[in-house]
Amino acid sequence: MRADLILAGGRIRTLGPSGLRPHSHLAVAGGRVIACGGSDLMALQGPRTRLIRLRGAAVLPGFNDAHAHVVYHGLTRFGADLGGCKTVAEIVARLRAHSHSLRRGEWQQGMGFRSAELQERRPPHRLELDAATGGRPAFIDERGGHLRVANSAALGVAGITAATPDPPGGGIGRDPDGAPNGVLLESAMRMVADVQPPPSRERRRLAIELTQRLLVSRGITSVGAAVNRGFAGDLLTFQELAEARRLRVRVNEFLSWELLEAAVAMGISAGYGGRMVRAGPIKVFVDGGAERVVMREEASGAWRTPPDELKVLVNRATGAGLQVAAHAIGDGAIEAMCDAVQASGGRGSRHRVEHCTICPEDLRRRLGRLGMIAVMQPLAARAARDAPGLFPARFREDLASHRRLMQAGVRIAFSSDLPVTPDPNPWRGIRAAVEDPVNGIDLLAALRAYTSAGAYASFEESVKGTLEPGMLADLQVYAEDPVEMSRERWDGLRPQAALLGGARVFGKL
Ligand SMILES: [Zn+2]
Repeated sequence: MRADLILAGGRIRTLGPSGLRPHSHLAVAGGRVIACGGSDLMALQGPRTRLIRLRGAAVLPGFNDAHAHVVYHGLTRFGADLGGCKTVAEIVARLRAHSHSLRRGEWQQGMGFRSAELQERRPPHRLELDAATGGRPAFIDERGGHLRVANSAALGVAGITAATPDPPGGGIGRDPDGAPNGVLLESAMRMVADVQPPPSRERRRLAIELTQRLLVSRGITSVGAAVNRGFAGDLLTFQELAEARRLRVRVNEFLSWELLEAAVAMGISAGYGGRMVRAGPIKVFVDGGAERVVMREEASGAWRTPPDELKVLVNRATGAGLQVAAHAIGDGAIEAMCDAVQASGGRGSRHRVEHCTICPEDLRRRLGRLGMIAVMQPLAARAARDAPGLFPARFREDLASHRRLMQAGVRIAFSSDLPVTPDPNPWRGIRAAVEDPVNGIDLLAALRAYTSAGAYASFEESVKGTLEPGMLADLQVYAEDPVEMSRERWDGLRPQAALLGGARVFGKL
């Protein structure tokens, strides 16, 4: 067989059995690696082979970001950017400035503030938003995705009043007299989201294109497209982009738990789809965001899905051959997911725990025995370690327990949770995972968590994740070898180019 493409004279690491040991040459045909080795691969050169001389450049498999909010991140670009706001007044000012770009009747959105970063140490009140937005409905999101604030007009559209009870798994913020103050926690966010006009398909397409540009510029060639709510039409939007040959990353699209029955009825099971777009796991929330996690020994926290409901859902999904991706941060939530998987007999279903932040020894062993996957964010773990008081000190060894999970036989896949982490650069997370003083892992393990483990999590380990012969030629090229450079430089590291199936999707070669 002749090669379509030969990369020659580089430092090529397959991350397969040869680990970090570099090879100098790699040959591609039909979008797949056909050989990796030394200069003898030049024998595969034919008259139509494209030859790229790497001149010492380093090559790695493309990264797989197993959990990033692709559509949502892109959509936030159309709202007011509230990232870095230090005061409520600043939020109001940015909303006011942004409102000039809106059409008549369009809802105003904003995203990226964090209550803990505001001088007031609280989210804004609806009346404060009203000052900027007037009678136009507005709905702004805290970074992290578990708290939103609606202005008075948006609460009005949703019909939320002092008489409205808190929904299960959620809370309506209230003034002392019981009137809603605009804050909506966890499942209560839905009460407004459900009456908000969904973004147009055109806007969603633009959102995806915006996000994929960011992802490929970071060497990410596969992504688990996470959803909080998600729209059933997102899958079609990805597919249309793929058919138009405009999709530049391979997408494993999560389906919101509300779509479970529809997915079962359509006969969708794990791995459904093609090499560019597949319908992925059923996403469900077990507990809340970092401040509202369910811990076994504490009464606080919020069940977004109570254990008995979770059992029903996991059982239904397992029976239909579907994988579940369960948001679970606290040990109580992780335990509930283990119970549900065990009861469903879903050992071979590769059910996923998203975040898996506080995972003690007994649960690590259960995850391993149940064949489950921990989809983690190494950067979030560092943030949790650096935020004293967020998680009790007794959980030091169980917090972001990458090494201990691996020792228990649990597969770990890494991810950014974009836009919770605003820059999806995997190297920053890899650095955090390697340097972690308590649960640190070696570089090869961290790279595999960001490549082949993501492929395993989407049932694609036989087609991508390494650069072994037969694998898709999804790869990234670095002018300077990341393995040899000092780790401080990883924080701003970018690939020179990225290839998907042997075709360039980013940069220059
Ligand atoms: Zn997420």
